Amino acid sequence: MTVVTDVKARWDRVAQRLRAELGEDLYSSWFARMEIEDLDSGRLTVSVPTRFLKSWIETHYLSRLHKIGEAELGALDTVQVRVRMRGGLPPRPAVEESPPPAAPQPSVIPAASAPVVAAAQAVAAERVPQLDPGQTFGSFVVGPSNQLAHAAMCRVADAAPGAAISFNPLFIHAGSGLGKTHLLSAVAHRIRESRPDRKVMFLTAERFMINFVMALRQRDTLAFKDQFAAIDVLLIDDFQFLQGKTMQQEFCNAFNSLVDSRRQVVVAADVPPAQLDAIDQRMRSRLMGGLVVDIELPDLETRRRILRSRHETMLKRDPSVMIPEEVLEFIANRVTGSGRELEGALNRILAYQQFNQAAVTLDLASLVLRDMQANPDGSRIKIDDILKVVGRHFNVGRTDLLSPRRARSVVVPRQIGMYLAKKMTARSLPEIGRRFGGRDHSTVLHAVRKIEDQIKTDDKLAREVALLIRLVEQG
Ligand code: ADP
Ligand code: MG
Repeated sequence: MTVVTDVKARWDRVAQRLRAELGEDLYSSWFARMEIEDLDSGRLTVSVPTRFLKSWIETHYLSRLHKIGEAELGALDTVQVRVRMRGGLPPRPAVEESPPPAAPQPSVIPAASAPVVAAAQAVAAERVPQLDPGQTFGSFVVGPSNQLAHAAMCRVADAAPGAAISFNPLFIHAGSGLGKTHLLSAVAHRIRESRPDRKVMFLTAERFMINFVMALRQRDTLAFKDQFAAIDVLLIDDFQFLQGKTMQQEFCNAFNSLVDSRRQVVVAADVPPAQLDAIDQRMRSRLMGGLVVDIELPDLETRRRILRSRHETMLKRDPSVMIPEEVLEFIANRVTGSGRELEGALNRILAYQQFNQAAVTLDLASLVLRDMQANPDGSRIKIDDILKVVGRHFNVGRTDLLSPRRARSVVVPRQIGMYLAKKMTARSLPEIGRRFGGRDHSTVLHAVRKIEDQIKTDDKLAREVALLIRLVEQG
């Protein structure tokens, strides 16, 4: 067992003990999302997704955590609770971040519970959630992975006041960075622009909880409830963070009264309703009663378009951030995750370029993105990998590459593939020939020589081949 998995296993035992000592309700309200970050010479660091949760745990459970931690992990000097960043990439400045916190004990809210209020105040004071002006329908790239979610959101945004509502609630789920918040913001923007008479409220589950705690504090829960009576569209983001029974009850009331009076509710979360473990079964089935759509990972073409559109936006702000087409293409191929990861990659390359005053080249991009590599240990390159990369890059099927077809659109990629196989693997010419659809070794030799020659004079081809080499290497 490695050290890391050993620590994880012991941490699991800490979690089990917490669960046993606190009971299921308390545990799932406050600890279900806690993760161990580090255990080093008596310093235990754990993380939670929100500041609210951090303050809550620090004020209520730190000594308990310390004690249980020591029982399972050995003597501890300190236990530190951190708020963890999502997505693993540097956050853009002033971006929403907003998970949610939690609030009160499972059943009774201690109306004047000072620590909750203090935590709520701390969070409430510093971050007024604002709509990102850049997140509109215009800047949202639609592809096969998100077109259903996009279409449903457009329907909501364009609905005429008083018109029959086709699905209520609309529930959107997707992993982090796939565009949920972007789409919710787009709805809010569009309604504010084109139907200013419709009242939209856009908030995260965290904000909902903070507002409620503050209302309790000011003994003004009526006003809190009343605000929902006046709105036409409620957009709730990061719903998975709704925590605590009282909060859920409160949300459920607001939700029911809106849906029952045929006002639109849109909920976004990182999992489908059935997997919202902390949420009461009745609430879950109400959420399933409308339209549930997900957003998948973007395909290559969508990633290209997201990158291009990002790059154009950056260029408008600062014309010096020119990124060559082949670098964008490289990123689109290398970074196969969410929109947030694509942006993170772009930002990283630009930051690096600015610090080092270096031109943005494929080499630079590949260096900067090295730790995002899928295949960092440089395992041996296979002809299959080359066929895959070449096929994808030129949009030619594998069958075509291996077939006898002589169309130029197939011949050139095939020759480049053979060239790469010769350069990048230890395979012999006859063997490469065999793997490329049973061709003989002289055909391979001809292809290799031809591409070698052309690269000397054709810059565009040289860059293209350099790109392909990178892509295959980083597989
Ligand atoms: P989520 O809320 O699902 O975690 P976000 O909406 O915050 O994700 O998206 C993360 C980043 O990626 C945002 O800057 C967003 O603008 C961008 N993004 C995600 N999907 C798309 C898309 N289809 N088109 C354009 N930008 C996108
Ligand atoms: Mg979001």
